[in-house]
This record gives sequence, C-alpha cells and structure tokens, in this order.
Amino acid sequence: MIVWKDAPMRQKSNMKIGGVADFFIEAENKEELPEIYRNYREIFLIGNGTNTLLSDGRLRRAFVSLKKLRDITELPEGRVRVGAGLDFKELIRFMREKDYGGLENLAGIPGTVGGLTCMNAGAYGGRIFDCIESVGIMDENLALRTLEKEEIKFSYRYTEIRDRGWVIVNVTFRFGKGFDLARVKEIQAMREAKQPLNYPSLGSTFKNPDGAFAARLITDAGLKGRRIGDAQISEKHPNFIINLGNAAYSDVTGLIELVCTTVRARSGIALEKEIVVVE
Ligand SMILES: Cc1cc2nc3c(=O)[nH]c(=O)nc-3n(C[C@H](O)[C@H](O)[C@H](O)COP(=O)(O)OP(=O)(O)OC[C@H]3O[C@@H](n4cnc5c(N)ncnc54)[C@H](O)[C@@H]3O)c2cc1C
Repeated sequence: MIVWKDAPMRQKSNMKIGGVADFFIEAENKEELPEIYRNYREIFLIGNGTNTLLSDGRLRRAFVSLKKLRDITELPEGRVRVGAGLDFKELIRFMREKDYGGLENLAGIPGTVGGLTCMNAGAYGGRIFDCIESVGIMDENLALRTLEKEEIKFSYRYTEIRDRGWVIVNVTFRFGKGFDLARVKEIQAMREAKQPLNYPSLGSTFKNPDGAFAARLITDAGLKGRRIGDAQISEKHPNFIINLGNAAYSDVTGLIELVCTTVRARSGIALEKEIVVVE
C-alpha cells in the first residue's frame, strides 16, 4: 500500500473542494485491506469522488482508494468480474470491444465500479444492479467473501453496503450479447444537452422523491441559478450544484440548506440528499 500523510483532497472530489486529510491510502491488492482497517480509524472509501462532497477544513480521516484494483476477468456464460477501482467508462469501453450489452443506459456516469455499486447508480431507466450477479466484499469482521445479489438489500440509489461498512473489492456482472452503441451515443447527447458538464459538480444533489422530480421542485421554488459565493444551483439542471471557480464547502452546504427549507415550505416535500457529505 502507499500511504500519504497530510494529503490535500481538493482534486479527489469532482466538486474540486476539499481540505487536508490525515491520511490518503492507496491499496495495491485486496489482501492488504484487513491490515489497513486494523491500523487506521475513521476510514472513508473514495472512488472517483463524483458523488462525494468534502469539507474544506481539516479532514481527520484516512481516505482509502481502491483505484489499483481494476482487473477485468471474463468468466463462462457472459459473466465478467471487475475490480472495484475500475473507472466505469473503462467497463463501457470493454463491453463495446467484447460486444456485451446491458449497461448502456448508464454510460457517462463518471464513477468507479465500486462507487456505482455502493450507490446503486442508475440512469435513463437502468441501474447497475440490473446486471450484477454477485459482489466481492470485505465485511465488518474484515473477512473477504462473496455475496450473491439476492443477499444484498438495495433500492433506488441505496444499498446496505455503506450502512454496514462493507468494502466492495470486485463485482461480477452477467451481460447479454450485443452492445448498443447507438443508445450510448443517444445518452451522451442527452447528458450534454441537459447537464452542466463544463463545471465541477457531483451530479444530482437530491434523490427524486416518490412521484416527483427534485429538479422540478427546485425550479418551482424559484431557486434556479441561485448563488452563494462561487457555488450555484445550475440553470441547466437545477438538481446540480456547480462550482464556478472557488466555491467553499459552506457555499455548497448553504445552498443545500436553502433548497431543503424552501422546497419544504413550498411543497411540503422533504428532499433527501443523494450526495455523500464528509467532514
Ligand atoms: C456529471 C455527473 C453526472 C452524474 N450522473 C449520474 C447518474 O446519471 N446516475 C447516478 O446514479 N449518479 C450520477 N452521478 C453521481 C456519481 O457519478 C455516482 O453516484 C457514482 O456512482 C459515484 O462513483 P464514485 O466512484 O465517484 O464514488 P465516490 O463519490 O467516490 O463515493 C460514493 C460513495 O460510494 C462509496 N464507495 C466508493 N467506492 C466504494 C467501494 N469500493 N466499496 C464500498 N463503498 C464504496 C463511498 O464511500 C461513498 O459513500 C453523476 C455525477 C456527475 C459529476
């Protein structure tokens, strides 16, 4: 493993906000994980940081990255085992090369395979768990084992993995035959048209409540374009908060607070954060 002390974290979150962490640890293989978990406290697993807002104060934590666990192994019957640290776009590239289908609707989600699985990421009617067969984890007793999909509780943008403190080390997918490149291109075009991709952000800030869209509720509350410091509720996609340059952590949390209170007062709906906040 490689350990950095007093690690600057700003570049590790896609929001480009973050203070200095006590430790940043890059695991080189899954066998090192029990040792890391025995030796460090307040561990936070970080993938691409595309859903994680970091405080810009001192982060009294050990951030652990599994980016070196990125092997892809083909197994019989269209099954593929993938390291948790693999960039999801690399998995999409692999599926295209090998003509595997099933995750095209998710193309463009900028996380790691571990991050997408932990969040049960989804888009345009698909979700990562649609193609998952099993997940290799390190459990709360620091044992490495494999869980079948049926053994894991998951729902819209939720899995029990985070609550239980499990570490995803690899994910086995079962793919169909035939990669739908036209669908991927269509989705890319929709993302470019609807999302503020030229600014740092964390994607959707809030989950969509049952039967409603967070972006619509935010627009109806008159908050589109509202700014605190350099953080802004995107005009293009009001469920995104963007960093216009030098946003502080408190600018973003201020906007989150403003959205929650204004939407609640106006519609009675309590929005729930989709992003993960780390102090
Ligand atoms: C422009 C943009 C568009 C986006 N579009 C979508 C979208 O369409 N749909 C969608 O669902 N999300 C979307 N997102 C949000 C984000 O990309 C996803 O939630 C993604 O799954 C996060 O992956 P990550 O590796 O960046 O995770 P991180 O932000 O690094 O971590 C997220 C959570 O996963 C945990 N985690 C990470 N790795 C592991 C692991 N190996 N084991 C256990 N826990 C782990 C972390 O501890 C944290 O709790 C978007 C984000 C951006 C910036």
